[in-house]
Amino acid sequence: MIITVGLTGGIGSGKTTIARLFASEFAIPIYIADVKTKELIAHNVALQQRIKELLGQQAFVEGKYNTAFVAQIVFSDPAKLQALNAIIHPYVQEDFEQWKRSQHSPYVIKESAILFESGSYKDCDCIITVTAPLEERINRVMLRDKIDRETVLKRIKNQWNDENKIKLSTFVVDNRELFRNLDKIKTIHSKIMEMTIENAEN
Ligand code: ATP
Repeated sequence: MIITVGLTGGIGSGKTTIARLFASEFAIPIYIADVKTKELIAHNVALQQRIKELLGQQAFVEGKYNTAFVAQIVFSDPAKLQALNAIIHPYVQEDFEQWKRSQHSPYVIKESAILFESGSYKDCDCIITVTAPLEERINRVMLRDKIDRETVLKRIKNQWNDENKIKLSTFVVDNRELFRNLDKIKTIHSKIMEMTIENAEN
């Protein structure tokens, strides 16, 4: 059976950057939950309907997901955010399982910002958490998404803190200097490969 490695980290920690390194260095298939979620919302009519029931018709404008409207509601209302994630999560989970069945690799990586918050970490065989200093994360996201500090902080407030994530993680990648990451992920890759061998023997 293919091992599922969950990869997570707070906003701006660099989890997509790290996930892409596993893909480019070791040809590990990566499932970027954020990208897949956007695709599902864009194409799945049943899912669209459920989102409209929760947030209102304005959640879609001319058939397109109104991310500005949705973000404005959910990042100020944790209960709505939780309800939205609860609607979306089963669709993503099913899509992931389907995707995984078509992969040919000792392990796959599922990268998700809300791996812990959604509970999907429970379906992973091991977990990598990416961390970076808070100030650095805020600056990276402000620069990347052209948003202000307040908006970044609002999003961070809805996520688990690093301490709790680390407690449940198999590996932690401290992502400060990009050039150091390759050595770190080589070590993690070797350890996961050992796990896949043990897994095959049992
Ligand atoms: P999000 O949760 O918002 O999707 P993320 O954790 O996936 O974020 P990335 O998108 O990988 O984070 O990285 C955030 C930004 O920081 C990107 O613009 C990326 O190029 C940059 N970045 C990532 N790692 C580093 C690093 N070690 N040093 C400097 N910049 C970095």
